[in-house]
Amino acid sequence: MAAAPPHVLLFPAPLLGHVSPMLKLAKVLSLRGLLVTFLTTEHVHRRLGADEGLNCHPGFSFRSIPDGLPADHPRSGGQFMEVITSLAAQSPERYRDLLVSHHGQWPVTCAIVDWVMPFTAVGKRLEIPVIAFRTGGPCSFWTYLCTPRLIEAGEIPFPVGYDMDELVRSVPGMEGFLRRRDLPSFCRVKESSDPILQAIASATQRTTHYRGLIFNTGETLDAAELAHIMSTCPVTYTVGPLDTILCALDRSTGSAAGPPSSSSPGWWREDRTCMPWLDAQSPKSVVYVSFGSLTVLSRPQLLEFWHGLANCGHRFLWVIRPDLLEEMDGAGDIPVELAEATKEKGCLVEWVDQREVLGHPAVGAFLTHSGWNSTIEAISAGVPMICWPFFFDQMVNSRFISEVWRIGVDMKDTCDRATVGRMVNEVMEGERADEMRRNVAGLSEMMRECVDEGGSSRIHLDQLIEDIRAMSL
Ligand code: UDP
Repeated sequence: MAAAPPHVLLFPAPLLGHVSPMLKLAKVLSLRGLLVTFLTTEHVHRRLGADEGLNCHPGFSFRSIPDGLPADHPRSGGQFMEVITSLAAQSPERYRDLLVSHHGQWPVTCAIVDWVMPFTAVGKRLEIPVIAFRTGGPCSFWTYLCTPRLIEAGEIPFPVGYDMDELVRSVPGMEGFLRRRDLPSFCRVKESSDPILQAIASATQRTTHYRGLIFNTGETLDAAELAHIMSTCPVTYTVGPLDTILCALDRSTGSAAGPPSSSSPGWWREDRTCMPWLDAQSPKSVVYVSFGSLTVLSRPQLLEFWHGLANCGHRFLWVIRPDLLEEMDGAGDIPVELAEATKEKGCLVEWVDQREVLGHPAVGAFLTHSGWNSTIEAISAGVPMICWPFFFDQMVNSRFISEVWRIGVDMKDTCDRATVGRMVNEVMEGERADEMRRNVAGLSEMMRECVDEGGSSRIHLDQLIEDIRAMSL
């Protein structure tokens, strides 16, 4: 009898920043000949339009399970914890069942799961190897791993009378630049027993016991942090940027089939009216503004950003998601001067294909919340950043962008209009802006080398596939 082909089940948390890179990895594995099952919640399944993609690539299938919330629950960006908590309460049995009963398909060889859903580790007890996909970057993961060390050293919670700009000492390799304010947002607690701090610390520690750990990055970007991580998690695969790998594979296999490969397939309806607007602008003259899929702004914050953009000397393309504003803050009236300035020099849209926008020659800078996907996409496209991190790993990413890679500025913890205007101008014009552009062009080239034939990401991907194949023998 023929040996069972390797069959991988991937299960991301129901958040775009997690679904999107794991879907890309799923497609890459499928194009490389593995059987792939992509498991999501029913809500995400519908949102991806997965039914249209079903069976379009041999060996790739979607499955879905309920998240336990009522059908009319909005599941908006600001409610993501509610969604994950409900899923964690609702789905372990269903997930376990899918792992073992495989419904007429080949048995699952290996599960690639999202580290934020600890219950998915159950595969280990079923003797199915589990690999964790880490949707953030190595730089933030290293700070997450150091949380117990920070608590033990008395650096978390912050001591009485603390100064947010003081450097922290207990994250090896980052002593020279990581301030209290740059630690992941869950470190800003009153007690070390804080339930979110403890849950994240233990989910992070648990990842170190998985069969391996996958990052969507190239190994040269965060080489120092990776070296630290590998002392605890020796089997680490850096297979990114997955976007670029997927495009290259699509080209070499001549395959446009399979699940969709845009940066956020079907999440919100993409508004393409900004493309002719961008075409009409001069090279590197536009600031692209987007805060990802989860960030929420209060109305005062929205207005400060808006004034800052209207007053800076540059044109802007701004993604204002339907659920960007805090729930209680309806959009309300827009002050006349902002409406006028926007007509003259701005373009507002609800959602775009971000990869396409970042790759447009008119885009000169990216005002971003520093989510890891956005960071990697901007580096790949060679676009410098103005960072306004919102939470979690974004606090660390933005510090790396400004102080380590020197490809942007970090306006963490403030968004008053004067700061917004000043920071945008700093990245758009003058000598420092030129330097940031040169630096990000260098990193973009470095990332390209990682994904080229023979590059580190290709080697890591081959190794991952070989390791999965070996599990099925
Ligand atoms: N994105 C997009 N269109 C938009 C805004 C965002 O396609 O108008 C995508 C972006 O390309 C990225 C993802 O949404 O892949 C956001 O992920 P990230 O990790 O940056 O932030 P999160 O949404 O998880 O906070």
